[in-house]
Amino acid sequence: MSEQIVKRVVIAGGGTAGWVAAAALVKQLGPLLDITLVESDEIGTVGVGESTIPTSRSFHDLLTINEQAFMRATQATFKLGISFENWGKPGDRYIHSFGEIGKRSTWMADFHHFWLHAQARGFGGSLADYCFELQASQAGKFAKAEGVPINYAYHLDATLYARFLRGLAEPAGVRRVEGKIAQVEQHPETGFLTALVLASGTRVEGDLFLDCTGFRGLLIEQTLETGYDDWTRYLATNSAIAVQTRSVGPAIPLTRAIAHQAGWRWRIPLQHRVGNGIVYCSDFLSDDEAQAQLLGDVEGEVLTEPRVIRYQTGARRQVWNKNCVALGLASGFIEPLESTSIHLVKVAITRLIQEFPFGGCSEALAARFNAQSRYEIEGIRDFITLHYHLTQRDDSPFWDRCRTMEIPDSLAQRMALFRDAAQAYKEGNDLFRVDSWVQVLLGQGLAPRSYHQLARMMDADTLAGALATLKSNIDTAVARMPSHQDFLAQYCPAGDA
Ligand SMILES: Cc1cc2nc3c(=O)[nH]c(=O)nc-3n(C[C@H](O)[C@H](O)[C@H](O)COP(=O)(O)OP(=O)(O)OC[C@H]3O[C@@H](n4cnc5c(N)ncnc54)[C@H](O)[C@@H]3O)c2cc1C
Repeated sequence: MSEQIVKRVVIAGGGTAGWVAAAALVKQLGPLLDITLVESDEIGTVGVGESTIPTSRSFHDLLTINEQAFMRATQATFKLGISFENWGKPGDRYIHSFGEIGKRSTWMADFHHFWLHAQARGFGGSLADYCFELQASQAGKFAKAEGVPINYAYHLDATLYARFLRGLAEPAGVRRVEGKIAQVEQHPETGFLTALVLASGTRVEGDLFLDCTGFRGLLIEQTLETGYDDWTRYLATNSAIAVQTRSVGPAIPLTRAIAHQAGWRWRIPLQHRVGNGIVYCSDFLSDDEAQAQLLGDVEGEVLTEPRVIRYQTGARRQVWNKNCVALGLASGFIEPLESTSIHLVKVAITRLIQEFPFGGCSEALAARFNAQSRYEIEGIRDFITLHYHLTQRDDSPFWDRCRTMEIPDSLAQRMALFRDAAQAYKEGNDLFRVDSWVQVLLGQGLAPRSYHQLARMMDADTLAGALATLKSNIDTAVARMPSHQDFLAQYCPAGDA
């Protein structure tokens, strides 16, 4: 029997990252570990992060979370995609939906090639016509039924989500310690972390430390000086202002991402309120201007004081350093355009459980974990950079910069492939599917020069008939669905917060 060297896990920080980590660890490895979470009410959490992607569902399955209970507790709504407005050029709109476009077939070419062929022949309508989730979201509808596949995520209240996860983790055995971490102790020779010392003098010793302290990276950066790769040259925004408003209409199952002259604005509908925010680059828009613009654009009574949040887009050089693993904002941050941050926390903690260093933290384990994490975050960086770079907007210095900036080679190659041959791909552990790339590439205005000629082997009448049937099946299914608001009211009503 090999010896278990790592048993005491200390989680520094109790935001979404800290409590996601605590809930997952105790659920999967509880009897093998002694888990302590330290958080400070005085410091508080970042308080945003309310839009998710479908991987949240599989993570919740892992934790055997009851969906209705979770949605009631967090005032959650369903999300079928993101509505991108004014991105390609002012007045444009497209939806990046979570749904599958067209029909999965055994053909050697993806559905969009057939659609492109139909377009070339003058029929086929919009690509959006062939996506069930997209059509449902546009109609403001939602339903779940046995045997009817629908791919969705959630909008949720970030504070209530952390509280909900805490409610799972504490009874399952996670010890919570309230207090401000004043000092981090290290082994004098190895530099490994040994204990957190709180302002009260309490020492919390551990074998493995998870840094979930947010942007400050108290362990991974302030103590271990790991280093950070700055990606501002690709993703220029560095500031956000968040504000909550009272709902003025039914909740739609879409996050709205509305571009403005120096960034974009989000709108996230929850059951009890709406989360809003403006994301911008402070070189091009002052905080006062951004706040005035946000408050001028939101609908409904403003419920909270607007709050400025600064960030630097980039990634920690190593997310696992010695016996410290950084999760959440402490590990890096890609701005929130595709709502990927909470997803990254969930993937990282799942991976840590799979690769848990029971026999001690080794360089080999850390190297593997770091390589996987880097691959994932670079893929997300590329996908989000695409939204800024592939634009015809020339109405402000910000968009001029985005349109003409240098982009990563990996993204340039993807764009060239689509431009030349309408090819898009998903490799290995890539997060974004072919349909995601296609929706954004076309939505932002990239017209491919050619496409796979397989579609020509189908005569025009057969292709037109197949497309018409697909569209009419989707239209019929959407027409039968209840409104998203009505579905929420019967499935998971949360009442007032
Ligand atoms: C503007 C913006 C919008 C976003 N939108 C989305 C979105 O739509 N979807 C999405 O997936 N993600 C989004 N994110 C990211 C998301 O908010 C975070 O990934 C998520 O909230 C996790 O944050 P965290 O737990 O790492 O950090 P935090 O919430 O900052 O938590 C840090 C914790 O560490 C504790 N702490 C810090 N220092 C100390 C100390 N000295 N002693 C004790 N405790 C300490 C704090 O008290 C707190 O509990 C957004 C982020 C920003 C900035």
